[in-house]
Amino acid sequence: MSRSAGVLVVEHIAAGLVEKHQIAGALKTFPEKGDSRDALLSMPAEHIAGKIAEIVSAVAKGSSLTAVGVGFPGIIRDGIVEESPNLQQIKGFNLRDAIENAMAANGIRVPVRIYNDADATAAGIATTRGLQPKLNRVWTLGNGVGFGRYPGSEGAWEGGHSVVSLDPKENFCGCGGRGHLEGFLGYRAMRLRFLDLEPEEVFENAQSGDARCVEFVSRCHRALAAATATSIHMEGPGPFYLTGPNVNWIDVGTLDRLVHDMVKMSPLQGSRFEVIPTNDELGIIGAASNALAAAGH
Ligand SMILES: [Zn+2]
Repeated sequence: MSRSAGVLVVEHIAAGLVEKHQIAGALKTFPEKGDSRDALLSMPAEHIAGKIAEIVSAVAKGSSLTAVGVGFPGIIRDGIVEESPNLQQIKGFNLRDAIENAMAANGIRVPVRIYNDADATAAGIATTRGLQPKLNRVWTLGNGVGFGRYPGSEGAWEGGHSVVSLDPKENFCGCGGRGHLEGFLGYRAMRLRFLDLEPEEVFENAQSGDARCVEFVSRCHRALAAATATSIHMEGPGPFYLTGPNVNWIDVGTLDRLVHDMVKMSPLQGSRFEVIPTNDELGIIGAASNALAAAGH
């Protein structure tokens, strides 16, 4: 039987064994407990690779692996992290080789494949639900805003950096670009925008009617609707899944209405949103399944 391991790196590292598109056994995470939002920010690239190899070796428990798939935030090409706005230290780093070498040092020789984290999550949603043939798109809302698609295809697909505002003062995105979706909805960007409030407080205050926070929450929804509408205008309608640590801040009914106002051509209608509570398992399963397929299984 083909056993593979999947890893998802978002605000923390999570890994698990995957058999037949399901998690087998318990997941391992780093850090193990507590608020891990900033755990990886100051960690050198080599250490991140070493930590991934360490917890994959731990979940494998000496059994052989056919492939290891890793979902990692940023633009990934041939195992190299070409850009990762929220983990700048890893830009240009060959993550695949570093993990393979660290695994080999632990006595495990296995091919490693690296995918964009949101693409891995999209693959996990598609494989666990048997949705493969259709285009499935995913927004992941965390420190950054990820955009994933399954089936994967050539391209950068940095949907989180879609331009949704022409206001030159909108410069909160982690990549430095102006007017980006992540500049509204990224956790880090919200902290920069509201120096006096944590993002959690902004959404709480909006619930109780604070005008400044109500206005911002409304703009967040318009920004996400705008980026979704652009994706629909470029690639057509279909399901959009919303997940990630901050997904509970989004009201799907509002988002649906806004997209309906932004997409009027009849062949492009019929998209829908679905919230998937944040979890590591989908990204782990997706990364492992993609890696297994790439290894010819
Ligand atoms: Zn950006």
